[in-house]
Amino acid sequence: MKKLGFGCMRLPVLGESKDFMSAEDIDLAQFCQMVDLFMERGFTYFDTSYVYHNGKSEVFLKEALVKRYPRESFLLADKLPTFSITRPEQVPVIFEEQLERCGVSYFDYYLLHNIWETNYDTNIVPCDEFGFACRMKKEGKIRHLGMSFHDSPEALDRILTEHPEVEFVQIALNYYDWDSEFVQSRRCYEVIRRHNRQVIVMQPVKGGMLAQVPDGVRSEMEQMQPGMTPASWAVRFAAGLEGVIVVLSGMSNLQQIEDNTSYMQEFLPLSRQEQDFLKKAVEVMKQSKTVACSQCQKCDAACPKNIHISDILGTYNTIMRQREQGLDVNVELNYYRPLKRRQHGGDICDGCGKCSEVCPMQLDVVRELKHASEFQDEHSFW
Ligand code: SF4
Ligand code: SF4
Repeated sequence: MKKLGFGCMRLPVLGESKDFMSAEDIDLAQFCQMVDLFMERGFTYFDTSYVYHNGKSEVFLKEALVKRYPRESFLLADKLPTFSITRPEQVPVIFEEQLERCGVSYFDYYLLHNIWETNYDTNIVPCDEFGFACRMKKEGKIRHLGMSFHDSPEALDRILTEHPEVEFVQIALNYYDWDSEFVQSRRCYEVIRRHNRQVIVMQPVKGGMLAQVPDGVRSEMEQMQPGMTPASWAVRFAAGLEGVIVVLSGMSNLQQIEDNTSYMQEFLPLSRQEQDFLKKAVEVMKQSKTVACSQCQKCDAACPKNIHISDILGTYNTIMRQREQGLDVNVELNYYRPLKRRQHGGDICDGCGKCSEVCPMQLDVVRELKHASEFQDEHSFW
């Protein structure tokens, strides 16, 4: 299988809204052209979910793909909306609805969607969602079983230990988040590989952020690989990792299909020199920040409440960097609540001021922390 997957969460729409959860009708004519070009170039993996485009992603995939191509010529991945399920009897109803919406009798890849430790304990285990998926696999309605995951490497290790039936894990992975505070791509990737499971990558271009790199970074990329877009660097970084079977790219127009399929047809992993360059590029990107925090961590050490202040401020800066580029779907917003479950969030701050006293940047850390943590709480996805 070729390593590029067609993410169907931001399809071209007829109306104005670009929100991946909106119920705008899909532009079917354009979507068909995109599917045709993707297939013509030998790519076969399509990824959807129950919630993308408020359910219309599945419905329009039936029109653009399933009705127009032989079933064995493509691979279809769909996801159970674990976050919407509170009773076991909902699970088979939703699953059958998904088969019907997509117009198929089986899914090639089926994932429990957006697992984090809290919904794992409160919903997924009590509703026996893994058990149901295993039964569907035995009946031939699922060919490969996996999950998409947004939480810590420790939670991932626990869940993979408890579920040997999980064949693959889909995680947010890109060169910017490789060593980040919240997303922790590298550590999650290492846990999956240690468990000997396969990896599917989402967010390789960080929701579009890594397609719009600073000018200096862009010109160095151009010198090193003439004609290759910044997005191509990001996708090649993820696709070159051992155990990665697919890198998903949410594609919204024909030009993105043209670009992505061009460099993924003859896929070349990044050289050591290119990988080193991306580490420097991340440092350059991090220089633009809303809160002038240098990530020295002196405040973390001074805080009697053990709040991870530098992580919360660093993540807030990353979110603001994406929003300056007009990107308002920020993967970081999946991680603040799981973080609060295992560490301390900004909401337990008592205002003692010890953090501000030690800050070499002379920030009003108490105020910045309050603002950054309230923002993340308010905008968290779940
Ligand atoms: S003001 Fe809040 S964040 Fe700062 S040291 Fe005190 S408790 Fe920690
Ligand atoms: S002490 Fe100041 S500069 Fe250092 S991590 Fe904390 S807020 Fe940032």
